[in-house]
Order: sequence, then structure tokens, then C-alpha cells
Amino acid sequence: MSFSLHEKEDTIVALATPQGVGAIAVIRLSGKDAIKITNRIFKGKDLEKQASHTIHFGTIRDGDKIIDEVLASVFVAPKSFTKENVVEISTHGSSYIVNQVIKLLVRHGARPAKPGEFTQRAFLHGQFDLAQAEAVADLIHSDSETSHQAAMNQMRGGFSSEIQKLRNELIHFASMIELELDFGEEDVEFANRNDLKVLVEKLLRAVELLISSFDLGNVIKNGVPTVIAGKPNAGKSTLLNALLNEEKAIVSEIAGTTRDFIEDEINIGGVIFRFIDTAGLRETTDIIEAIGVSRTQEKMKTASLILYLFDLTDTDMVEINRDINRLENQGVPFIKVANKIDKASPDFVRELKAKYPDTIFISAGQKDNLEVLKSRILELVNLDKFRTGNTIVTNIRHYDSLVKTRHSLLDVLEGLDRQITNDFLAMDIRRSLHYLGEITGEITTDDLLANIFSKFCIGK
Ligand code: GDP
Repeated sequence: MSFSLHEKEDTIVALATPQGVGAIAVIRLSGKDAIKITNRIFKGKDLEKQASHTIHFGTIRDGDKIIDEVLASVFVAPKSFTKENVVEISTHGSSYIVNQVIKLLVRHGARPAKPGEFTQRAFLHGQFDLAQAEAVADLIHSDSETSHQAAMNQMRGGFSSEIQKLRNELIHFASMIELELDFGEEDVEFANRNDLKVLVEKLLRAVELLISSFDLGNVIKNGVPTVIAGKPNAGKSTLLNALLNEEKAIVSEIAGTTRDFIEDEINIGGVIFRFIDTAGLRETTDIIEAIGVSRTQEKMKTASLILYLFDLTDTDMVEINRDINRLENQGVPFIKVANKIDKASPDFVRELKAKYPDTIFISAGQKDNLEVLKSRILELVNLDKFRTGNTIVTNIRHYDSLVKTRHSLLDVLEGLDRQITNDFLAMDIRRSLHYLGEITGEITTDDLLANIFSKFCIGK
């Protein structure tokens, strides 16, 4: 997406709230003429004479025809999200009204916005850097406490300032070395090689830490991959549905909220658990027996947590011992969950408790003891990791740039050890700077920007 000057200066319009019927809908305009264009169809006060950050009641008219009674919020450049003139028109939430108003605005000089164009303008005008812009998208899509926290931290610039700091220190050395290059033959040394080595090692440690946080970041963004393993009829689907329905019930109690439920994704205590390929695994005759089969084994290894579910009325001790043995050899943390406690023989329960005291006894069918199971699940993923306030990398693009940064920093170190010439050293340092700069957007290409912002929705 290349931006011509003309495009930068024109005024864009889009619906900022979701499509469909709602109490109100907000239509947003941004650009030099945002206020002027709105004024042409708004009957009420003269919006061009109003102070920034004020709201005005009026009607939207198409000639003599009144389309709606609205509130227009005026933001005068540069004190707005995009740093341009912005108007937000709150209409009644009918898609007919929204379409009419947007059509009118386009007729009077606005242009429909492209996906992510508001955020892109904010970025181009220096409202925030690229990593922060990407966090806006993450924040909008965050659906759990932990993903919300990570996006919020990134949007507020936590991650960016860390990268920036590393970059600035390196820039200092790069310029010193380039200064030495200017002096050519003369034997001057502005950049102390030992100091540079210490700095690069420090940077490497910081970069490694960020790289290793991506595992956790990925889990925060995409959910903890979890498998319910057990024989057919152990109650796997019943358990999954019980957990899912409970969440639905909690959410629907909050008046007016509706949410699309992604099948097999469950929010437990602010963390998303993604039950992987449960449908596929359900069909296996006996998952645990099939652990011997390499395909199943691979699948199980992608899990961070296994719920080993067995039917108390249909499993004997020999079988349980065998299964537990196999699971222990897997290396993935697992929880022993005994189902159908409502029908179990008390003697068998007693025997099991003695042998495996950490077993959790539930009735998936009657939704008994699910709370205990949930707290054990949370214990196992160790929530503290999520709440450390340390910067966590959640974005694959940032991860890629960090990995490339690590490579080039290692090249710098190696170069220092081998005492390579300054021009090569300067090149390696520049390369490290380039990759670090990609994260925050100091270094960008049109393709990169287009790729990032096209993933946003229209209106964002
Ligand atoms: P899956 O094959 O492991 O997915 O097992 P299902 O969830 O389909 O359950 C198998 C059968 O066990 C169904 O008839 C369920 O109604 C029943 N069932 C599941 N949980 C319980 C329970 O806690 N108590 C009792 N009595 N029956 C259950």
C-alpha cells in the first residue's frame, strides 16, 4: 500500500462499531475536511466553530429529509487518535441509518476507509510506534484477562521502550565505529572493543529473554493447548460441554452481552484453554493405547496439559496403572480425573484415593466437583508466570525480528573475537539495528505496513 500525498490528506469514513442492530452506532471520519464534510449534512451548531473534544446534538439531513437525530463529537487536529481532524457521529443503531449517513458523507467528499486505515494514520503521524499499533489490534481481539494484559502493556509502550533502549545503546557504538572508519588509515579507536563486547552480551541476554517469552506469549494469545485423553465413553465430550456451558452461563448472566463461542475454547480463571483436536481424538478407540502410534504421540506432544479422564464404573486398577505409566513417559503434565463418581463403587474410590491421592473425582454428567478440577488446571499452568509484569512477546512478527537480531548480534560478537575490520563490524551492527528497528517501525517497507494493517478490520 503506497501512500500518495493526496491519500494522506483526504478524509476517510467508516462505521466504528460492529455491523448489525444496536442501541447506537458510531460513524467515524478522519482527515483535513472531516469537520467541514460533516457540517454539510449536519443541522445544529456550526461544527467548524466548535472547540475540540465537544459533543453536539443535531440532525443529519439529505436535503429536506431528516435521516436521524445524532450526536457529533468533534476532535480538532492534532488532539485526536489519528492526529487529524476527527468527527464521531453517534446515530441510532440501525444498519439502514448507518448506510444512509455513510453514503451521504461519501457524496459530500469523504472516502470509505480501508482496513486499519485509522490506526495506520495514527502510526504515520507518530501517535505510536508499530508494535503499539499492532497491540491495538490485539487489544480489540483479546478475550481473556491475560491476553488483555499483554496487549495493554504493549500498547502502552512497555515492549517498545525496552527495544528502543537496546537500540539506542547500539546506535551509539555504531556511530563511534563509523567515525573510526572516517579517519581511515590513522590508528584511532573511539569505540572501546571491550565495552562493545560487554554491551553486545548484555543485548543478547535481553533479546534471548524476549525470545523465550514467546512460548508464553503464544499461549496467552492462542490458549493453552489441552487434550482430554480417555477411552471411548469415559465422558470426554460430556466434560468438555459441561465446562463450556458453565462459561456460557456465566457470560450470558451479564445482561446484553452476547459472544460467539469458539468450540473447544474455554476461559478458566482468565486463561484460555484450547482443547486440541478433541473431535479427532474422540474417535480413536483408545487414545492412551494409541500413544504407541507415532501420529497420536506427536499430537499429544503439542499439548501443554493432558486431562486423563477415566470412567470409574468401567476401568480397573491394572488399566489405570498402565495408563498412568504411559502418560508419565510422555513428559506432558497431566491430571488424573476419575469420572462418574455418581455411580462409582465406594470401595474402588477408596482404593484409588489411597494409591493416587491427587486424583480428582468428578461427575461430568452432573457437573459435580468441576470447580476443584478447574483450580487444579490453573495450578498446573502456574498463573504467576502470566502476571509477572515482564514484557512478553506475543506477536510472531516481533519474534522473527528478535531471532534475526540474535543472529546478527552473535555475528558482531564473533567479529569482535576474530578482530575483523571496522567496516565489517559496522555492517553487522547495522544489521542488528535494522532488525530491532523493524519491530517498532523505525525501519518499515510499504509491504510490511500493508501486510500489518490489512489484518485490521475496516473502521479500526
Ligand atoms: P466420550 O466418548 O469420552 O466423549 O464420552 P461421552 O461424553 O460421550 O459419555 C459417554 C456416556 O457416559 C454418555 O452416555 C454420558 O451421558 C455418560 N456420562 C458422562 N459423564 C457421566 C457422569 O458423570 N455420570 C454418569 N452416570 N454418566 C456420565
